[in-house]
Amino acid sequence: LARLRRTEPSVRSFIHVADAAAEREAEELDRRIASGEKDAVGPLAGVLVGVKDNLCTANMPSTGGSRILDGYRPAYDATAVRRLREAGAIVVGKTNLDEFGMGSTTEGSAFQVTTNPWDDSRVPGGSSGGSASAVSARQCVVSLGSDTGGSVRQPASFCGVVGLKPTYGRVSRFGLMAYASSLDVVGCFGSSVFDTATILSVVAGHDKMDSTSSSQDVPDYASELVSLDLLESKPLNGLRIGIIQETLGEGVDTGVVSSIKDAASHLERLGSVVEEVSLPSFSLGLPAYYILASSEASSNLSRYDGISVKGFIFWSTIFRYGRQVSADDLNEIYGESRANGLGHEVKMRILMGTYALSAGYYDAYYKRAQQVRTLVKESFKGALERYDILISPAAPSAAYKIGEKINDPLAMYAGDIMTVNVNLAGLPALVVPCGFVEGGAVGLPVGLQMIGSPFSEGNLLRVGHIFE
Ligand code: GLN
Repeated sequence: LARLRRTEPSVRSFIHVADAAAEREAEELDRRIASGEKDAVGPLAGVLVGVKDNLCTANMPSTGGSRILDGYRPAYDATAVRRLREAGAIVVGKTNLDEFGMGSTTEGSAFQVTTNPWDDSRVPGGSSGGSASAVSARQCVVSLGSDTGGSVRQPASFCGVVGLKPTYGRVSRFGLMAYASSLDVVGCFGSSVFDTATILSVVAGHDKMDSTSSSQDVPDYASELVSLDLLESKPLNGLRIGIIQETLGEGVDTGVVSSIKDAASHLERLGSVVEEVSLPSFSLGLPAYYILASSEASSNLSRYDGISVKGFIFWSTIFRYGRQVSADDLNEIYGESRANGLGHEVKMRILMGTYALSAGYYDAYYKRAQQVRTLVKESFKGALERYDILISPAAPSAAYKIGEKINDPLAMYAGDIMTVNVNLAGLPALVVPCGFVEGGAVGLPVGLQMIGSPFSEGNLLRVGHIFE
């Protein structure tokens, strides 16, 4: 907590810090342990976690990075948050993000700019930039983020931490503010693969509040990492790895390419076979992603209509979200609340999505993007029949300067090329730090992305752990 207080003025990872409450919870825990109640405390007892502010928390504000939710306090915890708390973790605050997860730098937050702990003139990545920088600056041990098109993996890469995007449906989305529901997943950050594996086991699993959550068994991912593999000289013997050709070409920084090639050689030395594999549909993923994500967002965000109701039902207070406006008629309420409550990027996405879904354009954009999604899925499926794991960079560059892409949305979108395909296909992917490029005072981290078949998180974590 002392470290959090000392570093927060320059990093600004948190929209809301609950340090005093965290201290009280920790003291209560100490008391219970001292009085012999050891069994009463869970496996994550006392572990400080940061939670992305688009996940609902009952006793803290939850803004999604948007003014339109200023002052909103949900009546419930998101399932992933509830499970962490039940395991004894202490939520130390709500981390900064691009408004509703739309962005790749965290500059799109309505509240503040978060800086990269490796160089405070650079972005931490996004949209889960606050969750990544908080772990990177050791302000908390682990954190939760969300990943619709790369929002866990790209900031993990920029901040030099481990980030996991689970299989679609592995973690309940209940209490996650919807951006693009067919792509959204709750993901985890840690400073090691072991920590990341530990929280995944806690948050994953079926939830009756999310019908898309899977009922597949949840392994104890962390205990599976503790094996004799590490003592063998070729612990990855028999593993087949495909390095995605299209991710090392034009537009990718040379420093990033050489870090990934070094990582591939390291994986080979550990016993695996590494070969180049081509995914011809790879570059189609980016435009398809932006059409689908914006389309779904235009529907999901219609709930932020500015209507607030306060009243009592069965003795509990009910209200809808966010800021209240005074206006004379419905259109004025919509107009006033959205014009002032939503930021520029969000409005642009709503317009793009509404356009793509409109009669006359639907076939040309939305339908075509869905067809591309099928192609992307199939090409991954084919490649993952031949390889256990596919690897690529997590982003085409290391962290760039704050402000550098703020007026160039297309350049920012292009930076998502490495990650969006994985969401279109619903696959799990793990990012682990694998090297450095020049920049900042001590160099800037580069992350290696490892992609696997659905529900192969255990395998990805095992390989990531050995690699690390
Ligand atoms: N940068 C991408 C976007 O803006 C991905 C964001 C995310 O994964 N939430 O849509």
